[in-house]
Amino acid sequence: MESQGASAQGPHLILLGAPGAGKGTQAAYLRDQWGLTHISTGDILRAEVAQGTALGAAAHDYMQRGELVPDALIIRMMAERLALLGAAAGYVLDGFPRTAPQAEALDAMLARIGHRLDGVINLEVERTELIRRLSGRRVCPNCSAIYHVETMPPRDAGICDACGAALIQRKDDQPAAIANRLEVYVAATQPLIDYYAARGMLVTIDGTIGVPAVAEAIRAALCGGA
Ligand code: AMP
Repeated sequence: MESQGASAQGPHLILLGAPGAGKGTQAAYLRDQWGLTHISTGDILRAEVAQGTALGAAAHDYMQRGELVPDALIIRMMAERLALLGAAAGYVLDGFPRTAPQAEALDAMLARIGHRLDGVINLEVERTELIRRLSGRRVCPNCSAIYHVETMPPRDAGICDACGAALIQRKDDQPAAIANRLEVYVAATQPLIDYYAARGMLVTIDGTIGVPAVAEAIRAALCGGA
């Protein structure tokens, strides 16, 4: 899902991190506070599934199992999405890239449309905390707002504060899929940390210090020329 914040100017960022590291929550905060466009491949895919499109049908089974959707589908989807953005738009990519071929394809896409990458933020959270966060997570199927049953409950149990829809637990936030997603992350996505570190783009931030504090750490890193 792509949602536009108040201002159309800002940096081009990637949020890296394991499932449950807080990428979606952080990206929504940066959208609301900094006016960045939030582009979440997971939200886009869930919307495609809900609408019953061909892409949604192709992605559905992989997503339920906590496996990655094939690179070719994701790369085509993101090339189309990024090409829609004006050069001045600031954005935060949440959940993309997730594999080395996706990272290489993103480099090529950005070069083609003349966008510079300003920073790659790696949110670090240890495994037991990731599992606690994922298993308690509830999401809004309508506006994609994210909650946690203990640490970030909605005002009224089970109801989205933002739009009033009934919250759900994602199928892939159930135990078997969580274990799978964490394994997939280590095998496929963690190597991107080295990929971006080697390019001098990587900023690693403790993902447990709270959403506003992470945003401040990102700002400091960007001002420091990360
Ligand atoms: P997320 O909401 O980011 O946790 O994504 C949910 C699911 O969507 C993942 O477990 C994958 O099945 C799929 N997905 C999201 N982004 C990607 C991506 N960049 N590459 C492959 N699959 C993805």
